[in-house]
Amino acid sequence: MNPILYLIVPCYNEELVLPKTYQVLCAKIQSMIAHNLIAPTSAIVFVDDGSKDQTWKVLNTLLHNCPPPETDFVAHCHSPRTIALKLSTNKGHQNALLAGLEYASTRCDCAISIDCDLQQDEQKLDEFIQKYKNGADIVMGIRNDRNTDTIFKKYTALGFYKLMNLMGVKLTKNHADYRLLSQKALNALLNHKESNLFLRGIVDNIGFSKTYVFFDVKPRNIGESKYPLRKMLSFAWNGITSFSIMPLRLVSILGFVFFILSLGLGAYALYVKLFTDNALWGWASTIIPFSFFSGVQLLSLGIIGEYIGKIYTESKHRPRYFIEDIQESNCVDSHNA
Ligand code: UDP
Ligand code: MG
Repeated sequence: MNPILYLIVPCYNEELVLPKTYQVLCAKIQSMIAHNLIAPTSAIVFVDDGSKDQTWKVLNTLLHNCPPPETDFVAHCHSPRTIALKLSTNKGHQNALLAGLEYASTRCDCAISIDCDLQQDEQKLDEFIQKYKNGADIVMGIRNDRNTDTIFKKYTALGFYKLMNLMGVKLTKNHADYRLLSQKALNALLNHKESNLFLRGIVDNIGFSKTYVFFDVKPRNIGESKYPLRKMLSFAWNGITSFSIMPLRLVSILGFVFFILSLGLGAYALYVKLFTDNALWGWASTIIPFSFFSGVQLLSLGIIGEYIGKIYTESKHRPRYFIEDIQESNCVDSHNA
């Protein structure tokens, strides 16, 4: 039996990209159905992450604007089952993905997440499914290179992996969120109830049989990146604080090092007092250590505060998103009628 595949596509302010994406993904899923790779009940789930532009309107038009019925559904219909979820407000890429995955989890055998801008090569979907059929529970899309990235993005990404590694977080390099999860892996993932979600870290940690698909990243043709520096930094920081207590440990080490240093400083002061005539200390010897240690203390408190803040948000167990509306294309039914 062919698996029911649900393709999850998060969209934030993607009104310009959507018509093309919709057409390309529908054609791809349809061809996969026709080639007997996936079940005819497979579907595409678009998740509108509280967009501020016309994304939801465009999605509705696409969903409800059916092509003329053909006699042979599988061979000719270009509209596989499509669903659109509208989140009540912008909750970020990770939560949008999660909303789609949660929706799919009770309906599919496996789910693949893919970006809306078609930068990730959709032709590789066949390979994901082949690997799933060969027994993999997690198939990770790995980009071949970063040639299509701006220099800035290339180096920030490099720095991100280096930093994560230093902090003891093992992440699969050059894997974004183009991945397949089997129903089993999906359920394991959905058992993580934290509000600050870092899917990549979780997927790398849940185990199960894992394999890879390599793909080329295409440049974003329409619209601009929805990941400005501010979002990238918060994403990286979230990744570190969700998976590593290293910053807290660094604070303790820093505290210890400065404690030893201050002991040395005390011994030196004593030596100057007892054995030399230079006992009169200027303001520098008071002010500099004072301000230095104040800085260290504040920094340490700040880092501890970050973690306490996280405990605070997690302890509230707030819902991660609200679905405001669900639309399902009726084209499939009209073709079947
Ligand atoms: N996205 C989202 N919510 C956000 C930001 C982005 O759902 O708050 C989606 C976006 O529509 C796209 C995917 O996440 O489908 C990746 O974003 P983008 O392509 O802008 O990131 P980049 O490729 O530049 O890293
Ligand atoms: Mg992109």
